[in-house]
Amino acid sequence: LNRQLAALPTTIFTVMSELARAHDAINLGQGFPDTEGPRDMVQAAADALLDGRNQYAPLTGLPELRRAVADSNARFLGLEIDAESEVIVTSGATEALAASLMALIEPGDEIVLIEPLYDTYLPMVRQLGGVPRVVRLEEPDWTLPREALAAAFSPRTKAILLNTPMNPTGKVFTPEELDFIAGLLDTHDAYAVCDEVYEHLTFNTPHVSLMTRPGMRERCLRIGSAGKSFSLTGWKVGYITAPAPLAAVVAKAHQNLVFATAPNLQRAVAFGLNKDAQYFKDLAADMARKRDILSAGLRGVGLTVLPCEGSYFVMADITPLARGLDDVAFARMLTEEAGVTTIPASAFYDPANGTPPRNLVRFAFCKQESVLQEAIRRIEHWA
Ligand code: PMP
Ligand code: GLN
Repeated sequence: LNRQLAALPTTIFTVMSELARAHDAINLGQGFPDTEGPRDMVQAAADALLDGRNQYAPLTGLPELRRAVADSNARFLGLEIDAESEVIVTSGATEALAASLMALIEPGDEIVLIEPLYDTYLPMVRQLGGVPRVVRLEEPDWTLPREALAAAFSPRTKAILLNTPMNPTGKVFTPEELDFIAGLLDTHDAYAVCDEVYEHLTFNTPHVSLMTRPGMRERCLRIGSAGKSFSLTGWKVGYITAPAPLAAVVAKAHQNLVFATAPNLQRAVAFGLNKDAQYFKDLAADMARKRDILSAGLRGVGLTVLPCEGSYFVMADITPLARGLDDVAFARMLTEEAGVTTIPASAFYDPANGTPPRNLVRFAFCKQESVLQEAIRRIEHWA
C-alpha cells in the first residue's frame, strides 16, 4: 500500500457533513449551494443526453466548451486564449489541480503554498514528491507577509499554488500583491497554478487573475469550475487555461487520470459560460447578500467576523462563545448542541508548519437566506 495515502485522514468536509446529518444540524460546513443551478443549464444537459451525447468526448474537451472558456477569458479578463491548444476541460477543478501539479512536479521540486489552504493541496503536492513551502497569512486581515513569501522561494521552487478568491478566508488578492508574487516568479523562473474557482464570486474587491499581470501569461495555469460559477457542484466540470506548451503536458496527465469528461455536462457548461454578464453579476450580488446576512447574524451573537471579499466562506473568531474549547471541540459542540455545523479552521493548516490558530471556524454562506437566518436563530438560542 501507499503509506502516504493510507495515512491520510478522511476529509474534514465528509467528517463534518456526516456529523451534521447525525444531529440533523444545518450544514454550514461543506461548501455547496442548497439551491439548484440555472434551470436552462440543467435542461441543456438533459437535452444533450437524449440527443445522443453519450460516448467519449475529445480528450481536451468538446470544441464548443473550449471555445466558450476562451471567450469567457477574453470577456472577463481581456486574455487572448487559443481554444484549440490552450484550454483543457477536466472533471472538476480537483482533477484540474491534480493534472496541473502532475504536469509540473518532479520529485524534490518545491511548491510554495499559502496557508490557510484548501485541504487537497498539501496531500497532492506530497503525493507527487513535491516539497511544500508554506507561508501563513496574518490575521485578522489575512495580510500577505511579503518577506516570508520571498524567503519561501529558492532555486528549487517549481511553482506557487495560488487561490484567489480564497477558500477558506474569503481573501481576494490585490493587484499589488499579485505583482509582488509575479516578481518572485520572474526572479525564480517559476510557474503558478492559479485556483480561481471563485472567480465570479467577489463582493467589493474585483477578481484579478495573476495570468493578466505583466509577464505572467506564459507562467500561469488558470483553473475554473462550473460547480462554483453555476452552483452545480455535483457536475464536477472544470477547465484549465494555460500557454500551449504547458497545456500539452497537462493533457498527458489528464489522459491518464480520466481521459475525458461527460459530454452532456460539457455542452451545458458551454451554454452557461455564454450567458450574459448580468447572470454573473446576479450570482455575485446574491452571494454578497448571503455573506452580509450571515456576518451580521454572527456579530449579533457575539462572534468576531473576519474580512471576506469573495468565495462561499467567512471565518469567525469563536473566542467569546468557545467556553475554553478549541476549534475542533467547538465545531463538534455547535453541531451537537446548537444544530449548526461549521469547519474548524485548523483543518486548513499544515501540521508541519507550526501551531495553527485554534480560535477560528469557517462558515459557508452559499445557502438560502431563510436557512442562514435559522442557523443564527439556533446559535442565539444556544449561546
Ligand atoms: N479549489 C477550491 C479552492 C475549492 O474550494 C474547490 C471546491 N470547493 C475546488 C478547488 C474543487 O472544485 P471542483 O468541485 O470543481 O472539483
Ligand atoms: N470545496 C468544498 C469546501 O471547501 C468542499 C468540496 C469537498 O467536499 N471536496 O467546502
